[in-house]
Amino acid sequence: MALEVKWVGFDFGQCMMNPTGLRNHLVIADVSKELGQPELIEERIQKYRIMKEKYGTYSAVKEGHRDEIMEYVFDGDEEAKELFSAKEQEHLSMGPGLPEALAYLQDTGIHIAVVAELKKTLGAMNKDIVTRFLEKKGLTHYFEELVSPQGRVDFKDGSINLAYKGKTKEAGTIYDELCGDLAKRGIKPEECAMVGDKLGTDIIPAKKRGINTVQYTGYIDMGVVEEADYRIESFLELKDLLRKKV
Ligand SMILES: [Mg+2]
Repeated sequence: MALEVKWVGFDFGQCMMNPTGLRNHLVIADVSKELGQPELIEERIQKYRIMKEKYGTYSAVKEGHRDEIMEYVFDGDEEAKELFSAKEQEHLSMGPGLPEALAYLQDTGIHIAVVAELKKTLGAMNKDIVTRFLEKKGLTHYFEELVSPQGRVDFKDGSINLAYKGKTKEAGTIYDELCGDLAKRGIKPEECAMVGDKLGTDIIPAKKRGINTVQYTGYIDMGVVEEADYRIESFLELKDLLRKKV
């Protein structure tokens, strides 16, 4: 049975963005070479491993501690920050079927957003990892907004709403703010769906606010919970699952 919605939010890490192809040591080597510091490659890769030991997994390091990667691994070098993000993009891939699913949703008139636990301060467009990724993969035009703890970016006019500042998916406060904004647009939580991999940030807190939840298991399956209304392994399944609510 299809789910009728007016708005869909997509998680970023390990959902839209699939880090399978990412080889961190290659990115670090590329950046160091480009900076003319090939002699620092080994030391930097070692530092990155130390960070992994500290935080458990490379995804945890990358999702939550990017500033520390720059400070600790690259000694706060401004040029390295830029290069790291650029080189990283070359190694990141999309979850299979994503463009097709987004095209379908857009054609049916469903509003599409990114809801990401972005740690880096929002600056100029295309400077953060999410907008860079969308741009690089040619996906930007499908999305109307980026909702993050750094603010909400309206892709139509580039404006940033800082009411979201400091609110997170994990605490659920970002969904509170979002539901308030959507209500002003005449959209109720039950007319929305959140797609994501992580139970504690994408599924449980969203469901608590009445948003329909779609657990994406295409990269990693975090397990079965009652708060997940649907589970999909491929974004293509969204074409059968979601319909525009009129
Ligand atoms: Mg995720």
